[in-house]
Amino acid sequence: MIPFEVRIDLKSGILNKSDRRSKRYLSDLNSYFIDTKKIESMIRKKNVLVYEVYEIVVPEELGHMMFGSSILYPGKVGSEYFLTKGHYHEKIETAEIYFCLKGEGYLVMESLEGEFLNIYMRSGSIAYVPPKWAHRTTNTGTEPFVCFYSVPATAGHDYDEIEKNGFKTTIIESEGKVKIIKKEDY
Ligand code: ZN
Repeated sequence: MIPFEVRIDLKSGILNKSDRRSKRYLSDLNSYFIDTKKIESMIRKKNVLVYEVYEIVVPEELGHMMFGSSILYPGKVGSEYFLTKGHYHEKIETAEIYFCLKGEGYLVMESLEGEFLNIYMRSGSIAYVPPKWAHRTTNTGTEPFVCFYSVPATAGHDYDEIEKNGFKTTIIESEGKVKIIKKEDY
């Protein structure tokens, strides 16, 4: 394999060439928000795009690094801010780096040991997700929340655990303020 360069549009987060592009609409996320009735009615009205990911594919071999950008649009389901599905890595011993280019939001994380931690990010924030921490982003701002990420190419995604049990915390707007809550207190 030979070295290469790609360009990212710092405003939109779009890569000028990407090997894989995925889009997630409200209907892909209906089990991820607390207010399931609200999301159903929103989907009936307009099934909006919630986030998209542009990814550069490299060989999924030890030593290679995968990278890309994620663009999470602003919005809420009820009072809960738009979020990405979130995942553990299949190879649980792998870490990840997130670099916020635009917008603002939180990197919502929790560990296999039951700890949880949410990091506020805005343009210029770099967050380190250590091994064994599940992670998702939440857009608490009014513009697209754009992050660059890089992860070992062998990491893989494990979405099942989160789809089944979800994260312990979520982020809502309450009396005009951003508030991190435990889901059980919603
Ligand atoms: Zn990851």
